[in-house]
Amino acid sequence: MNAEIIAVGSELLLGQIANTNAKFISTQLSELGINVFYHTVVGDNGDRLKRAIEIAESRADLIIFSGGLGPTKDDLTKETIANHLGLPLVFDDVALSYIEQFFAQWGRTMTENNRKQALILEGSEVLANHHGMAPGMLLEKDGRIYILLPGPPKEIEPMFQFEAKPKLAARLNEGGIILSHVLRFYGIGEAELEVQVQDILDNQTNPTVAPLAGDGEVTLRITAKAATEEEAWPLIRAKEAEILAIVGEYHYGNNDDSLASKIVEMLLHHNLTIAAAESLTAGLFQSELAEIPGVSGTLVGGMVTYTEQAKVQQLGIEQSLLDQYGVVSSECAAAMALKVREKFGTDIGVGLTGAAGPEPHGDQPAGTIWIGFSIGNSEPITRKLQLLGMRNSNRIRAVKLAYSYLMR
Ligand code: ATP
Ligand code: MG
Repeated sequence: MNAEIIAVGSELLLGQIANTNAKFISTQLSELGINVFYHTVVGDNGDRLKRAIEIAESRADLIIFSGGLGPTKDDLTKETIANHLGLPLVFDDVALSYIEQFFAQWGRTMTENNRKQALILEGSEVLANHHGMAPGMLLEKDGRIYILLPGPPKEIEPMFQFEAKPKLAARLNEGGIILSHVLRFYGIGEAELEVQVQDILDNQTNPTVAPLAGDGEVTLRITAKAATEEEAWPLIRAKEAEILAIVGEYHYGNNDDSLASKIVEMLLHHNLTIAAAESLTAGLFQSELAEIPGVSGTLVGGMVTYTEQAKVQQLGIEQSLLDQYGVVSSECAAAMALKVREKFGTDIGVGLTGAAGPEPHGDQPAGTIWIGFSIGNSEPITRKLQLLGMRNSNRIRAVKLAYSYLMR
């Protein structure tokens, strides 16, 4: 099944908003193993929308529309499709009573326009909208599937995920099921990983293997097709074993795992506590750990010591050490790790310091980062990174690399 997503809205063409709906739906479709070949954006104009539909019909068998289902005059997606397919719009009782309830609940008067939101394409299945009034629709006609979804992300996202996606999956599964399993890697670049598993990427049929990179992490998605889940799992497991035999040393987790969640799991498992002193990352290291439930069992606290003065006065680092080596140095990272571990009485202390960019820090070029680890009573150890990214991506990568060193 090949898909095209048509986002309707002049505000998208004017650059007022980004087409995040297409991004979201594409991600969801890839989980179903459906190829998205085209993203189209068209303004609130009936003729141009009709033209876009005709083009989409020539090259896709699943066409997904976002936006223009509302009550105002510029919302014309439904009407244009009805007209194009020669289908009447009919009132859906469930959608209508939902809209009536909505107005009763808020004590507002309902206009005729609002009633029109309960009009659906004859013969379509309604996709319930639990976060707004306009219902979505799924229609099968002449071998194609049309899905109509509202524009606001808070409406379209749950509607697609919980209403449309299961219906699509059910249609795909008529001849079997599709199962996906994501392997997550750290400490290896996308290009390097692809070179190592090149043979597997070149010779894939079922299961398929797709790489994806972002923010210093790389993933491989294994997708298998089979009659049942029981038959799909061995295919996935065999491919997983093949991949891990080559790049297993960089593998840290699967599916929804994150580096932070694995670190927290590991620290809790070994009953270890941690604290961090952060300069260039200004709390990011701790903040990402704090996204993981149960982190209070290991993250005791930490400090943001951004200026030299804060490093001396708050953390207690010797001024002479900073005078001698500078703040972007192995010595400073080690001292930050040691001092924060002592202050918070933890098993592990982490210190992050560096020149995030875009400017160099003294004689240290932008992207020079030092990470210190003080573990128990042994001498702190440090790692140097020389990153080339923009300021914020350097900060994010410094945190990811700090996690990945901890994992070893
Ligand atoms: P409403 O009932 O709110 O009018 P609608 O289905 O008619 O919903 P639109 O009027 O096209 O949808 O868009 C409503 C809002 O949804 C837009 O102002 C915008 O904030 C957001 N939106 C629309 N399309 C997209 C898109 N492709 N990506 C992200 N946001 C979008
Ligand atoms: Mg609208």
